[in-house]
Amino acid sequence: MTHRVHTSGVGMDSQTIRFTMVQKIQSQGLQDARVAQALRAVERHRFVDSALVPQAYEDTSLPIGMGQTISKPSVVARMLALLCEGRGGPLGRVLEIGTGCGYQAALLSHIAQEVYSIERLRGLHDKARENLRHLCLRNVQLILGDGMLGFSEGAPYSAIISAAGGMGIPQAWFDQLAVGGRLVAPSESPNGQQHLVVIDKTDSGLVHTVLEPVLFVPLKSGVS
Ligand code: SAH
Repeated sequence: MTHRVHTSGVGMDSQTIRFTMVQKIQSQGLQDARVAQALRAVERHRFVDSALVPQAYEDTSLPIGMGQTISKPSVVARMLALLCEGRGGPLGRVLEIGTGCGYQAALLSHIAQEVYSIERLRGLHDKARENLRHLCLRNVQLILGDGMLGFSEGAPYSAIISAAGGMGIPQAWFDQLAVGGRLVAPSESPNGQQHLVVIDKTDSGLVHTVLEPVLFVPLKSGVS
């Protein structure tokens, strides 16, 4: 069904623009059908300020307030595809660190059975709650808290994804990851360069894989 929006800037049919965005990301290498379906389903323009709506379907990161940004769609797609890699069915319980505006949490709700998303800034936690309200996603729980400590109440997680990068990976995330689970996060090396890292928790321990350089907002401790 075609869904028409009247928000200025996406005056056209937003579904067509969104499908074009997804096709572009697929032509750049996205292969996972579940991630593509989620990207087609979630209206990114509803998660940004009205002034930024015209850019909502460009492959660009956008400010979401409080000095934070929503990642570019191709990077979100890349991280979600890494989470899904090699798994037949939907992901089980997922922990997202850095709810931000709630866009990625909405995507996760399409590819996971249960989503716990934690944000340390009250202003953004509230904004995400507002953005997600009309979607009525029954499998998403938003938490205000310090994601560096993970969220032990929901552990163990079959997947953990972070939208903020610090020096290395907090121990709590390893502890709260299920055996057979996968963690995808930006991580800063001592030279200050951030890379995307994938960590698989296997029967015989943690397997780290360092991927391409990325640029995410900093992972900070505490709630404010
Ligand atoms: N996934 C988000 C991206 C938000 S940017 C989206 O789709 O909009 C990353 C977010 O991580 C920021 O909102 C920032 O406040 C948050 N963050 C940084 N450190 C954190 C921590 N320790 N715990 C929880 N959230 C954190």
